[in-house]
Amino acid sequence: MDETAAGDIRFFCARRVDGGAEDAATLGHKGANLAEMARLGLPVPPGFTLPVSLCRTIAARGEVPAEVMARIEEAIGLLEEETGARFGGPERPLLLAVRASTRRALPGLLPAALNVGISRPVIEAALAAGDEAAFLWDCYRRFLHGYGHVVLGLPHETFEYELEDFREALGRAPDAPLNAGQLEELAGRYEELIAEAGGEVPEEPRDQLGAVLLAAARAWDGPRVRDARRLYGVPEDWGAAVSVQAMVFGNRDIDSASGVAVSRDPASGEKTLSGEYLPRAQGEDIVAGLRTPWPITEEERRRSGLDTPSMELSMPEAFAALLKAVVALERHYRRPQNIEFVVESGRLWLLQALPARLGPEAALRAAVEMVREGLIAREDAVRMVDPYQLEKLLHPVLERAGARALARGIGASPGAASGELVIDAEEARRLAAAGRSVILVRPETTPEDIPALQSVRGILTARGGMTSHAAVIARGLGIPCVAGAGVIEIDTAAGEVRIGEQVVRLNEWITIDGASGEVFRGRMPTRQPVLSTHFHTLLEWADAIRTLKVRANADTPREAEVALEFGAEGIGLCRTEHMVFGTERLVLLQELILSTDPTHRRDVLKRLEAAQGEDFRAIFSVMAGKPVTIRLLDPPVHEFLPRSEAEIGEVAKRLMVPPERIRARVNALMEYNPMLGHRGARLMMTLPALLSMQARAMFEAMRALKEEGRAPSRLEIMVPFIMSAAEMARMEAMFAEAAEAFARETGARPEFTLGCMIELPSACMNADAIARHAAFFSFGTNDLTQTVLGLSRDDAGRFLHVYLEEGLLARDPFVTLDEEAVAPFINMAVRKGRSARADLVTSACGEHAGDPRSIRLLAACGLDAISCSPYRVPIARLAAAQAALEMRKREKKDAQG
Ligand code: PEP
Ligand code: MG
Repeated sequence: MDETAAGDIRFFCARRVDGGAEDAATLGHKGANLAEMARLGLPVPPGFTLPVSLCRTIAARGEVPAEVMARIEEAIGLLEEETGARFGGPERPLLLAVRASTRRALPGLLPAALNVGISRPVIEAALAAGDEAAFLWDCYRRFLHGYGHVVLGLPHETFEYELEDFREALGRAPDAPLNAGQLEELAGRYEELIAEAGGEVPEEPRDQLGAVLLAAARAWDGPRVRDARRLYGVPEDWGAAVSVQAMVFGNRDIDSASGVAVSRDPASGEKTLSGEYLPRAQGEDIVAGLRTPWPITEEERRRSGLDTPSMELSMPEAFAALLKAVVALERHYRRPQNIEFVVESGRLWLLQALPARLGPEAALRAAVEMVREGLIAREDAVRMVDPYQLEKLLHPVLERAGARALARGIGASPGAASGELVIDAEEARRLAAAGRSVILVRPETTPEDIPALQSVRGILTARGGMTSHAAVIARGLGIPCVAGAGVIEIDTAAGEVRIGEQVVRLNEWITIDGASGEVFRGRMPTRQPVLSTHFHTLLEWADAIRTLKVRANADTPREAEVALEFGAEGIGLCRTEHMVFGTERLVLLQELILSTDPTHRRDVLKRLEAAQGEDFRAIFSVMAGKPVTIRLLDPPVHEFLPRSEAEIGEVAKRLMVPPERIRARVNALMEYNPMLGHRGARLMMTLPALLSMQARAMFEAMRALKEEGRAPSRLEIMVPFIMSAAEMARMEAMFAEAAEAFARETGARPEFTLGCMIELPSACMNADAIARHAAFFSFGTNDLTQTVLGLSRDDAGRFLHVYLEEGLLARDPFVTLDEEAVAPFINMAVRKGRSARADLVTSACGEHAGDPRSIRLLAACGLDAISCSPYRVPIARLAAAQAALEMRKREKKDAQG
């Protein structure tokens, strides 16, 4: 076999370390991290990694080729030397942990099998050599569970239910230890279960290892991982590597434990070690949330009110070693760390360190404080916080004065939410997709629940703690989670949930507070959170880095105020139709469109001008000194028309014509393809009076406010839905004429710049010619997505979900800018536009301008600014800074080579 094609085995041992953090693509994140920690001299059990290429070969061959097995044998030899234990015994058996991983952590999805190498004969030999029986049988039954799941495909529940039944029959609480005899009996039952399912477990450790390695290498292309890859947007060609490591035993004796620690408090970000551990346990016990774990520090124990002893008190030496390792890891990786560890007979071992997922407020605090502690630079801090998380900070928190909680669990992911109680993950997904608010209530969650977790408002679990699956996922998603609310009993058969004394029916509303861990009956009011100083500090740092300007889309003075509070540098889109709908102005506009009497039309225009003038003045005075872009009326004309008979009758009365005339006119103006119809610049071409009315209203508002210094520094007038240069030239001429007339009448010459929205492929193609008549372009990415992809923005929702579920589209193109087709149009239009007008100002104002992934693409197109809804301005500021850092990094790399 070609050794280089398959890739070499890479070690992370005391004596030999190959590679490190930079090798995640070949070693998987686990292999890379273990190598990096070994390189740092941290206590990592020795092991080696079969790189992605070698695992691919194994999967393709359907077996571990003999020559690869021979190299693995040699590698095991090194582990034996370092540990003084022997794979297969007879004395001090070396057991192995086998874990698959890809470049990025996909919690719980890639297989892991522990205690490989144990069997009845191995136990016999070890017993004879004096190892403790309960420990050995515990390892064996855990091995059977892992092997049964990973190699034979049996569900976890097969073993978990057996364990529960076994304990129940013994009358044992989930936390009470089982003795050697009981564990031996349990292992026997597991063997029977496997045999009943037609499976077989080899006794020979090498055969066990071969089967586990093959299953782990094959998992990447199995159905479960394939689905998850799609969900996480992970490319197929990443592949998985498999790390093999000497087991260390958190279940060895009373001085042993497994745990997870976070270097900063995940909810507050405070610099204090937090986390959980379980004595006499292996890691899965914590992650699966089957037992409620114990607190690591004394402070946490006091805070949570738990009466189980802290690691700080019960294992002081291991705790001190952990503290030391945590400091070293934070300093090294320059991020808060989430660490999996084992204490074996009092000695600390590290199994994994990952960037910690903190709640949004905690992430901000940790980022800012780590800069102040001199651990990281401001750029690192800006890179560290996920802009999608910020959104959660801008959302409501629970108003709960006097309310009595039904139950209390662990506040595992901050935020508050109300929703219908649902216990089935699939049902939760279905209801949420139909627009219902859902709180998913589960005994605990598994990776299979992820699609449901992504769509619900919040999660409540009966078991598990801060690092249980539900909590980790919820924090990542930024939705509230209350975990380990032990008083909850879920009765699937009766369709109800008992919470303490009370019974809550399915689909009844409940409220959870993911900060305090409380659960309430019914729906509760919420309030806006107060933004912390950390929030403002980090955004100021982001502002100093970003090159994209950030403005807001605002149509009312209130929105303009919010936009300013959140740091918008101006208004990038004021949709004037929003000032019209739902007000008296709509009636006037209807009269203007439907009336045929010139005198009446003139009168209506005057009144409209006055009303719009007030609207503009209000916005301008809020935005004093900042630029404002006002867009001319855009919607298809029929959207303004009366619909109901009553409305038609009303207009007819006002115009003093029979209702039939109005109805006939309304029917004549009705369109089937309104988003491509009589709208945008086309409105102004056919109803030029509208253009002059809006122009005059703006000019007058500016003139009036200028004297008081409350006018914006720049009035930018924007024409929507431009198709061609000829159209734009006509708009330019019409504005010149309107300005001239205004100057003649008032003696004041209006100052403004004229630009247009680029929302059609044709405008992109003709961008150079259009730019000769436009000082700025703003990309209407909503319409541009619609017109480039041929997807109706109003109707695509009916079928887009199928495209997303089937993986034909990675993301909703109306949420995240389409990279293959829409972004290239923007790129081209920017280049063409600038070729004709060097000082052309370019921006984007569609929904995408508030979406971090899209902002990265927009920045790469070379835009000057983005404009998004006021609440997303902070997100856009941070995302724009991250885009700038990413571009700088790329430029530096390009320059180097
Ligand atoms: C757009 O099309 O992206 C845009 C900002 O305009 P509107 O959403 O009003 O059509
Ligand atoms: Mg548009």
